[in-house]
Amino acid sequence: MEYYGNQLSGLIEELGKLPGVGAKSAQRLAFHIIHMPEEQVEQLAEKMVNVRKNIRYCKVCCTLTDRELCPICASEKRDHSTIMVVENPRDLAAYEKTGRYDGVYHVLHGAISPQLGIGPGDIRLKELMVRLQGDVKEVIIATNSSLEGETTAMYLSKLIRPTGIKVTRIASGVPVGGDLEYIDEVTLLRALEGRVEL
Ligand code: ZN
Repeated sequence: MEYYGNQLSGLIEELGKLPGVGAKSAQRLAFHIIHMPEEQVEQLAEKMVNVRKNIRYCKVCCTLTDRELCPICASEKRDHSTIMVVENPRDLAAYEKTGRYDGVYHVLHGAISPQLGIGPGDIRLKELMVRLQGDVKEVIIATNSSLEGETTAMYLSKLIRPTGIKVTRIASGVPVGGDLEYIDEVTLLRALEGRVEL
């Protein structure tokens, strides 16, 4: 890419490192950027820097946010006695898109996988157990239906059962191995409504 000179080539190269962006897309994006008004480019760059700088975990549910408490944990309209456990913030977003769940969440940031050497100590389980000492009526386990998701669900239900808190698992309408974020809202709602007690 010598023909573009250092700066443009460098931009194309950096963009090409992003997931799902091949060499052609990187070139297309770079050309789009250099034709954008300078002010817009500045705003975009500033947003990227700021979000990277300020992103952190909600101190209650561990989802990604830029505040101490995420908007869901901070909301009085939510039912804080029902906690849905999901693997990652994208799964949380998928359930939020249904607009029909009014409880709160807990984001594990992964799932237990003996094959990959990911144990209970590597995901945000401790934080969940601390929350269960409060006023919690139900824990809905909404981990994926993959082997890792099921392993995590089983582990969780065993861990929570002695507390006497109701533990449910979303129905198996969710395709096996399917990432929650790719499932349509109707399927998600059906899985939630058809949850079974463990
Ligand atoms: Zn939160």
